[in-house]
Amino acid sequence: MSKNIAIDGPAGAGKSTIARRLAKELGYIYVDTGAMYRAMGLFFTTRGVDPHNKERICAAAKDASVTLSYENGEQHVLLNGEDVTGKIRTEEAGKMASATSGFMPVREHLTNLQKELAARENVVMDGRDIGTCVLPNADLKVYLTASSSVRGERRYKELVEKGMPADLDVIIADIEKRDEADMNREVSPLKQAEDAVLLDSSDLTIDQVVEKMMEMCKEKDLIS
Ligand code: C5P
Repeated sequence: MSKNIAIDGPAGAGKSTIARRLAKELGYIYVDTGAMYRAMGLFFTTRGVDPHNKERICAAAKDASVTLSYENGEQHVLLNGEDVTGKIRTEEAGKMASATSGFMPVREHLTNLQKELAARENVVMDGRDIGTCVLPNADLKVYLTASSSVRGERRYKELVEKGMPADLDVIIADIEKRDEADMNREVSPLKQAEDAVLLDSSDLTIDQVVEKMMEMCKEKDLIS
């Protein structure tokens, strides 16, 4: 039986950084499910589909196929066969993903793929609904969060380091708007699973969070 670790939490909580590090330490595959919703978002953007038009989104979703491949342990996201890994890392793609991820036809295709992968491989999977919907029987569930100001500052620093334009107030407002949408949507809203461990990373370094999670993995016998 494959071993599964689920990490959920709001935007900018550090899920992908932590999950990637943890997967490397454990020798598991890291699955970034947000990237899959971003690829769907990109598909709708390039087709010029209005994210608020439910009918058009649901109809267009049938023409999008998102798949994953791994090169040297790094996840690549393919949209209808094209590698879009680099294209989806913009704030715009994140917003489009959030606006369209609440529609059932969008989720169905992606969650099936996520479940299949986790059944075959040892995975650290991060997202919004992993512990609650995708992997309800995961061996370890963590809900990773941090205050919106800390999350905003982290995003701001990331953008500045990449030489991209950034406005801290706008970033924090965007993060809060995205949380609001993700937590209050009808389908698979972001929430802490009852059996998930709550981890607030506001005052912790990446190394400290990884260390805490490795301790949890040890307790659960997830280290081979
Ligand atoms: O994690 P990331 O910021 O890349 O996710 C982009 C968006 O995709 C989220 O705001 C959320 O709306 C959606 N998402 C989701 N379920 C997941 C992962 C991401 O609905 N498991």
